Amino acid sequence: MTKTIQAVRGMNDILPDEVHLWQFFEHTVREWLRAYGYREIRMPVLERTELFVRSIGDATDIVEKEMYSFVDELNGESLTLRPEGTASCVRAAIEHNLLYGNSQRLWYGGPMFRHERPQKGRYRQFHQFGVEALGYAGPDIDIEHIVMCSRLWRGLGLEGIALELNSLGSAEARVRYRTRLVEYLEQHRDALDADSQRRLDANPLRVLDSKNPALQALIEKAPRLIDDLDEESARHFEAVQEGLREAGIEYRVNTRLVRGLDYYNRTVFEWTTDRLGAQGTVCAGGRYDGLIEQIGGKTAPACGYAMGVERLLALMQEGPAREAPAPDVYVVRQGDAAERYAQRVAETMRDAGLAVVLHCGGGSFKSQMKKADASGARYAALIGDDEAQAGNLTMKTLRAPRDDSDSGAAQTGTQAKVDIAQAVAMAASR
Ligand code: ATP
Ligand code: MG
Repeated sequence: MTKTIQAVRGMNDILPDEVHLWQFFEHTVREWLRAYGYREIRMPVLERTELFVRSIGDATDIVEKEMYSFVDELNGESLTLRPEGTASCVRAAIEHNLLYGNSQRLWYGGPMFRHERPQKGRYRQFHQFGVEALGYAGPDIDIEHIVMCSRLWRGLGLEGIALELNSLGSAEARVRYRTRLVEYLEQHRDALDADSQRRLDANPLRVLDSKNPALQALIEKAPRLIDDLDEESARHFEAVQEGLREAGIEYRVNTRLVRGLDYYNRTVFEWTTDRLGAQGTVCAGGRYDGLIEQIGGKTAPACGYAMGVERLLALMQEGPAREAPAPDVYVVRQGDAAERYAQRVAETMRDAGLAVVLHCGGGSFKSQMKKADASGARYAALIGDDEAQAGNLTMKTLRAPRDDSDSGAAQTGTQAKVDIAQAVAMAASR
């Protein structure tokens, strides 16, 4: 036998048994975005490498080691599978003049690619929904973003997702802070692990992001950016917090929250849960007022966030199970005339909006009934040559209607000879 070919490590198939949860999630998210007036934008999954280097920053985990980049042999160009959506979204908005005299509330969704060590909640192809508000200075829009997240968690039935908030101040304040931080960290260089020593040289703020327990005390005592915010950023941050208090949203200021990407300033936030182990951040974002100009557009403020779909789904799976959708009717058919007649019956039922699985591949009545049962359908439509001749069919109840399962339980197994219109009416009533 030929050797089987497996999927690329860290890239998952989403199987039919799981897909209904994805569909429920995606449907909920789309409706929620509509409710806030955000419009969808779809970008290619492949971009010029330069876009990510320039926006995310070359001393970040993503650009340093996580990107799937390759040279397009046809023209020597370096291309990258997108590791995130913000850079592409901003590129597209600039390229198509969407910001010309305008602000934009946009969203996107789809696969992202990062070459990380695969583990629970961390994959090499994963999915994000991202929300970007381009041309908004805030703090009102910062508040909107956080408020809308909290509504989504409710809509998805998710509990225990906590909000952490910080301000990174202005670019200038960050430069000042960087100097102070480097001074402090240099005094303790020997105590740092190799990773943090490297970060100290390349991107010192990222040292604060270290998860190494041995470094926590040292990091705890580091100077804090929040103590040295520029006046306007401090006002902005206060206004965001005021808005959250007014909306009744609980949060914790985490002065060490710096985010892994370079383009953030002022408000940054993360939503985290302790129910998913180490991969507990389900949504993250913030303000990136410098990014549009950095990518070549006319200066405009902006903010946004992205959520990790796999992690949110994992959290949903901790809750009560969600029933997979099943067909309304499974059509069992036997006999030459029945085969053709059943085909017409199924089409007529579909015309009426029913989900109908027509048995294919023949087989005994008993084996077809087994398949009907396994399909989860509420009714089996039984069609033999007699029914074909008479122009009717037998409807057998396989499952009680969902809404009155107590009284309905008795009905399971009953059958009735009906015409097509009656069959449609039966299957359509819930
Ligand atoms: P982490 O610290 O977990 O690596 P990150 O800061 O790199 O996260 P972002 O770039 O902010 O993540 O992406 C936003 C969200 O996308 C994350 O909060 C997470 O839910 C999800 N995410 C990021 N990387 C992965 C991945 N490799 N697999 C699954 N989900 C991911
Ligand atoms: Mg990461």
